[in-house]
Amino acid sequence: MKRWLMDILACSASDCRSKLDLEVYKSHTQESEGEEVDEIDEALISCPKCGRWYPVIDGIACMLPDDLRMDGKQHIEETAFLERWKEKVPTDILKNGLPFGLS
Ligand SMILES: [Zn+2]
Repeated sequence: MKRWLMDILACSASDCRSKLDLEVYKSHTQESEGEEVDEIDEALISCPKCGRWYPVIDGIACMLPDDLRMDGKQHIEETAFLERWKEKVPTDILKNGLPFGLS
């Protein structure tokens, strides 16, 4: 995903909609119309207001509502994301993050 996307993204919790923080774990630069553009591959998006977090996996920001993140393939992928970056993800999110952390 492109860094500027952060300017328009908001927390997907319907009672929150706060601006979000971004912590980039992996990125690369890409040539686009003669300019070097920063492409984010893996990152943690977090909400300072409600404590929710969202992963960027393979360049795609996963901003699904809680219930769609709690089971199935999505849950497995997002748990694997936390495992992959647990050295960098803030302890607060690993322990108390919404909708889930690493147990
Ligand atoms: Zn929020």
